Amino acid sequence: MSKNRQVITVSPPLFLKETGRKEQMRSAGHICSHCHGNGWFWRQPDVEKDSVKEACPICGGSGRLDAVITIEWCPSEERRKV
Ligand SMILES: [Zn+2]
Repeated sequence: MSKNRQVITVSPPLFLKETGRKEQMRSAGHICSHCHGNGWFWRQPDVEKDSVKEACPICGGSGRLDAVITIEWCPSEERRKV
């Protein structure tokens, strides 16, 4: 099974003062871990009826998830080396 694997290289943007301290990016198309990419579950009704297909509450039935990644740049907590 193939995997969607991405790497983020973290480095501060050139014009932080103008663009703001936050960056946001989206990593799209990850297989939903809740429904394993099916997008739905079979639900058994209380009374004897046929099973009903119910959309996954996490991915909304798509079977895929996007990761929205926010990076906030702030002053370092590491001591400056002299
Ligand atoms: Zn899902």
